[in-house]
Amino acid sequence: MNSWKTKQGYEIFQILSGRSNSYLISTGTQNILIDTGKKSAYRKLKQNIELLKLTNKISFLILTHTHYDHCQNVNVIKDQENCKVFVSLKAKESIENGYTVLPKGTMIIPKLISKIGRMIAKKRFGYKTFMPDIFINKDVDLNDYHLDIKLIETSGHSADSISVIIDNEIAVVGDAMFGVFKNSIMPPFADNTEEMIKSWEKLLNTECSLFLPGHGSEIRREFLQKEFIKMQNYGTCFKAILK
Ligand SMILES: [Zn+2]
Repeated sequence: MNSWKTKQGYEIFQILSGRSNSYLISTGTQNILIDTGKKSAYRKLKQNIELLKLTNKISFLILTHTHYDHCQNVNVIKDQENCKVFVSLKAKESIENGYTVLPKGTMIIPKLISKIGRMIAKKRFGYKTFMPDIFINKDVDLNDYHLDIKLIETSGHSADSISVIIDNEIAVVGDAMFGVFKNSIMPPFADNTEEMIKSWEKLLNTECSLFLPGHGSEIRREFLQKEFIKMQNYGTCFKAILK
């Protein structure tokens, strides 16, 4: 199991990998789960949580966003752990509906998949609805819960995307970045690419040196910086052509 440690001693475990990642932060006294994966990954998720032999229950579950591959196990985990669920206020209606519309593709093939996806939609890509406890409608500090953790809005991939900034060192970013490709961090699906690039800038404005995505492996700050500059240059080129 991959794990990371901040200077203050917060440990971050990657408790799900493969189709979707899921992370667990352990501060020593508190445990915070980030995302839950697909329903089919439930057993693996549970097994890996047990492997950690946590002395305390999970007190918080933070959702980076509400696409089905990140939140299909929320209702079960919430029941078992009695944890508080944090999610963006922008997901309120989707959660009530048990389906968050999948974003448009950023490349031709995913564009097609997305079109089919919208047709089959809720049945295939829905989730059991759940009751969130805390809606995020601005960047928040979790100091009140004695945690050196910030939740910041990083929309673009989806309107409800948030990133979890741990100790200002490591960020769990959901699908705001993709860790699957060697030469790009651009997710294949995004509601608003321009907004997503702005979110990359926002993440670069933190002191984080490592970014843990919802799919694939860790992304270093230098790579994010390079990708940000590359996309900014693309943007300038397109605007110049459209003039
Ligand atoms: Zn997503």
